[in-house]
Amino acid sequence: MYNKVVVAVDLSDSSKKIIDAALNLVGNDPDKLALAHVVEPIPSVWGMESYAMDPIELQQKILDSSGKMLEEIGNKSKIDKSNQHTLLGTPATEIRNLVEELKADAIVIGSHGNSGWKIVLGSTAIKLLHGATCDVLTIYVGDD
Ligand code: AMP
Repeated sequence: MYNKVVVAVDLSDSSKKIIDAALNLVGNDPDKLALAHVVEPIPSVWGMESYAMDPIELQQKILDSSGKMLEEIGNKSKIDKSNQHTLLGTPATEIRNLVEELKADAIVIGSHGNSGWKIVLGSTAIKLLHGATCDVLTIYVGDD
């Protein structure tokens, strides 16, 4: 059985299915899960006036609201706040860093995300599979 599993979610409806699959891997012990969502940085553009508000403030607002959504999802599966991670950066890179930091032994991820079917797997899943240093389990999420 795994001791620490990083569960990467994009906050879509498929998140519950992915978390349930991860719980199955750890004997239904939510303390063995680290729930992660990565917010991608808003693009830097020429001239701050392109944004209706200060881009740093806007970025923080997005982080805060994503954190709240992650908390709602995590709470439903009894995942403690200390095991919920809202990160800023590129999803595959940040998830890999979290795996190293927590010395996790597996990653659970959806077969594809909000962007729908691209090829066989979503781009985040493919990037994580390349050079993975632990088991990576992809959960088929259908057309959710
Ligand atoms: P995608 O590569 O967007 O098709 O998404 C495939 C899977 O990667 C999703 O089902 C999630 O498990 C995970 N994922 C996608 N985007 C993120 C994100 N921003 N933060 C955490 N996990 C993500």
